[in-house]
Amino acid sequence: MADILVYVLHYEGALNKNSLGAVSEGARLAGELGGEAHAIVVGDGDDLTEELAASLGNWGASKVFRARAPEGLAQPVIDAMAKVMQDNGHTYALFGGGLLGFEVGAGLAARLGAGVTMEVTEVDVQDGKLVAARPILQDSKISKSRYRDKGVIIGRLNAFEARESGGGPATVEDVEVELSSQATQATMVQRGEQRGEDVDIEGADFLVAGGRGLGKPEGFQMCEELANALGGAVAATRAVVDAGWYPYSTQIGQTGKTVAPKLYLAAGISGAIQHKVGMQNSENIVAINKDSNAPIFEFSDLGIVGDLNKILPKLTEAVKAKKGS
Ligand SMILES: Cc1cc2nc3c(=O)[nH]c(=O)nc-3n(C[C@H](O)[C@H](O)[C@H](O)COP(=O)(O)OP(=O)(O)OC[C@H]3O[C@@H](n4cnc5c(N)ncnc54)[C@H](O)[C@@H]3O)c2cc1C
Repeated sequence: MADILVYVLHYEGALNKNSLGAVSEGARLAGELGGEAHAIVVGDGDDLTEELAASLGNWGASKVFRARAPEGLAQPVIDAMAKVMQDNGHTYALFGGGLLGFEVGAGLAARLGAGVTMEVTEVDVQDGKLVAARPILQDSKISKSRYRDKGVIIGRLNAFEARESGGGPATVEDVEVELSSQATQATMVQRGEQRGEDVDIEGADFLVAGGRGLGKPEGFQMCEELANALGGAVAATRAVVDAGWYPYSTQIGQTGKTVAPKLYLAAGISGAIQHKVGMQNSENIVAINKDSNAPIFEFSDLGIVGDLNKILPKLTEAVKAKKGS
């Protein structure tokens, strides 16, 4: 019998979607292993209520550990998870992904002497043990990891689907955690998400994504005009959000959002692997790039070699003319 402990992030009284996916996946896997899926929530605010913790039962957690320690920083979560896993004999820790998940997962693996796999897209049970699969070599091959003893599995964002299990509220157990000296060195000063306009990028059917090839922040106006004509939204690469050209909330890729719209139009984007993993499942990918050797053309359905400054306005005009607006 092997139990799985799933880390669940929460913010302002809401549970993180990727964490809920990990709880659902943990419940499925624990069922096959003949064990149980438990969750752990960490926080010192009033928003971490017993009701919120217990609601994880709806996604398949039979028990939820609630640790009163700072939320959003890796080290306190590592302390809490290591204690819970050691005291309760969990074999596996599971994360839904994201930067905090990477940091906590890596630290936890070091603390427990466990094996760790990141960017996992699929987990199976073989011979009574978990086997984690992750794409490697620009997603051209799959690597599978097995664990000698304990295993820490960190999913790729959106890899695990959140499914309500129909189970009732979970049992909530409060745990006392003695924080290690390194866990008290950092203090959370402010937490928040930089939001763009009130646009649902993950739900949009049409995305016009801009990269460094736009040349300057004002270049995004061309993307906005085309997105408006299509009835879609604007997305961006990390290079441009890091440069402050567009809000972080629009970043697509490994450290941003994962999307699968009907149309992903990439303008001035080279097609780095870290960008590709966030948009490769789009139904149709159209790329505009002046470099005919740009990697993005390798996974585009339609590639246009040319200057986006000339092509984007013409496309907008054509879409408007077609729609009669
Ligand atoms: C750990 C890690 C995580 C990362 N996570 C992400 C992530 O989540 N998302 C992400 O996007 N990146 C991420 N990156 C960065 C990624 O590696 C690339 O650096 C980034 O995606 C490049 O952005 P870009 O395509 O806008 O810029 P560039 O690579 O500079 O490409 C610009 C493109 O524009 C073209 N161009 C220039 N002028 C024109 C013109 N006038 N008309 C048409 N085309 C033109 C050029 O030919 C070029 O291909 C990550 C990197 C690391 C190391």
